[in-house]
Amino acid sequence: MHKTKGLLVVFSGPSGSGKGTVLAEVMKRYPDMEFSVSATTRAPREGEKDGVNYFFKTKEEFQDMVENGGFIEWAQFCENCYGTPRAYVESRLEQGKDVVLEIEVQGAMQVKEAFPDAVLIFNLPPSMQELESRLIGRNTEPIDVVNKRLATAKEELLVADRYDYVIVNDVVEYAAEKFLSILKSEKCKAERNISLLKEFK
Ligand code: 5GP
Repeated sequence: MHKTKGLLVVFSGPSGSGKGTVLAEVMKRYPDMEFSVSATTRAPREGEKDGVNYFFKTKEEFQDMVENGGFIEWAQFCENCYGTPRAYVESRLEQGKDVVLEIEVQGAMQVKEAFPDAVLIFNLPPSMQELESRLIGRNTEPIDVVNKRLATAKEELLVADRYDYVIVNDVVEYAAEKFLSILKSEKCKAERNISLLKEFK
């Protein structure tokens, strides 16, 4: 039996682009894909659970993980640190599982460097105006935080062209379909199926 390594998928997009909603729809339709839970120094928002949404860490705990090579990437975003734990991702990929990371752009570029066959997908809002009203309407953060996130969102949009794919999140179901089509095509790439092809030689 041929065995292929799992696909490492990176999903980014500015705050307010609705990437969490798109990803939830994708995972509903493709439950075999595993979501990598990140570590963060940010305080939990209402309803967030440790080990489910994030592993909530102190700055010292986070720094220890950085120094011990515990992250495949990490970045500072709006005054907090976020990182992808190495052990989980590497072991799942090795077992042939597809793993998705929902991370911001600096981290995505680190992943691209360290895992050249990762697939990078960028989630775009339907328009800049729509993004602004979603961020302001979300009401989860004080206004200075919203403004900071808006400025960061604009910067993030500038590097979307370094991703392999962009999808516009106009209707969540359509965006999820596009995401799943990308996965299907990537999995069919000849270079990802070397061991399968060997069986026919
Ligand atoms: P939030 O505070 O809204 O949950 O996340 C802020 C940003 O950090 C989002 O763009 C989110 O995708 C990103 N993020 C979450 N986890 C990670 C991670 O492990 N690494 C990096 N680089 N970014 C992350």
